[in-house]
Amino acid sequence: MTILHNLPTQDLQALDAAHHMHPFTDGAELAAKGARVITRAKGVMLQDSEGVDILDGMAGLWCVNIGYGREELANAAHAQMQQLPYYNTFFQTSHPPVIALSQKLAELAPGDLNHVFYASGGSEANDTNLRLVRHYWATKGKPDKKVIIARKNGYHGSTVGAASLGGMSGMHAQGGLPIPDIVHIDQPYWWGEGGDMSPEEFGLARARQLEAMIHEVGPDNVAAFIAEPVQGAGGVIVAPDTYWPEIQRICDDYDILLIADEVITGFGRTGNWFGSQTYDIRPDIITTAKGLSSGYMPIGASILSDEVAQVIDHGGDFNHGYTYSGHPVACAVALENLRILQEEQIIEKAAADTIPYLTEKWAQLADHPLVGETVNKGLMAGLALTPDKAARAKFASDPGTVGFRCRERCFANGLIMRHVGDRMIIAPPLIISRDEIDTLFERAVQSLDETLSGLKTDGMMVAA
Ligand SMILES: *Cc1c(COP(=O)(O)O)cnc(C)c1O
Repeated sequence: MTILHNLPTQDLQALDAAHHMHPFTDGAELAAKGARVITRAKGVMLQDSEGVDILDGMAGLWCVNIGYGREELANAAHAQMQQLPYYNTFFQTSHPPVIALSQKLAELAPGDLNHVFYASGGSEANDTNLRLVRHYWATKGKPDKKVIIARKNGYHGSTVGAASLGGMSGMHAQGGLPIPDIVHIDQPYWWGEGGDMSPEEFGLARARQLEAMIHEVGPDNVAAFIAEPVQGAGGVIVAPDTYWPEIQRICDDYDILLIADEVITGFGRTGNWFGSQTYDIRPDIITTAKGLSSGYMPIGASILSDEVAQVIDHGGDFNHGYTYSGHPVACAVALENLRILQEEQIIEKAAADTIPYLTEKWAQLADHPLVGETVNKGLMAGLALTPDKAARAKFASDPGTVGFRCRERCFANGLIMRHVGDRMIIAPPLIISRDEIDTLFERAVQSLDETLSGLKTDGMMVAA
């Protein structure tokens, strides 16, 4: 094997810095410091090239829902690679893994979401959705109905289309985004943006921005609204309870397609199979990826309602697709992942036991002097770091400075907890046990304590 398993860490870091460009990373800064090299993993634990164990509070990038090291998935890949490693689904061909996975997804997805278009990840699936909803309305004789409304600080991926749908200002600042006919409304982030309103009032007000935007653009020009049931990469932003019912009403009233980007919330993250079930919404399309294969293989999927699929199917050729749409190995692995999730009742068990346990413990972190709010929906959770809880204040330092310090303390204490600006977030594998949750909390509290004392020493507990 030519994989460099036995090189010393320093050599791996030097080669990494010399030849590997990292996503969402300051390359020069990383080269100076050296990447942490992860070499193996089992359950919820990672191990690095120095043999240090780290509890993965992020399930990779929100994806390893069934945990690391499930041999069944390796065996499914092995068997499928031997039988049929690749064939496409373009020219009126199909294969058993893609057929079986499509049937399974139709069974699991809510309502009449029964039709699946495949991609290699969430970004590609959202690019599919972007073209698909416009083509849908054009096929119905309404070619002007093409504007897509999305949200600031939403995340829908990194391709040109998906990053345009997303509302990340740092991404729009690079490469000339967003592309035309995509507009953004504000996010339902009460702690950060709610001012004097109650969460309920604020949730309604933010939902009604959708209605106002529809009027501004003109209902006959709006194709769809896209949003994550819970914003993940934006910092685990859980909308007030009033938000989603009002969004659903508005989409219904104005005949706007609702796209639920469930790349994170799909496959158990919020305690149900889909976040749409948790929020009782009826999307026309859901985007999935990540937990679909628990990250063991790259795969994404747009799951469409009967009505949307029927219109597309009768609109002639849909001139869109990826070489790896419905890749047989990825489909076989996803299918095995779904079998395990279902047969081992991983989601039901989490909902009954570890989600209530984590919810209670996470809420207790709000007593920490550095923590403003704590929120969670199932096994995704966020907290705001603040110099002044009562005022819901931000730090005087550049946004993210304090969050980064906290993440570094977590890393040093054997915990992957991510920071988004000055929010800290977790989304552990769904199979995390109570004992492992205890370990996660011990390490998190220690890291918060160390962050706080460092901030005090450096005179940084100062509000903006
Ligand atoms: C990660 C993510 C995506 C992008 O998925 P990729 O597989 O990275 O392309 C899209 N939407 C949401 C909500 C995500 O979290």
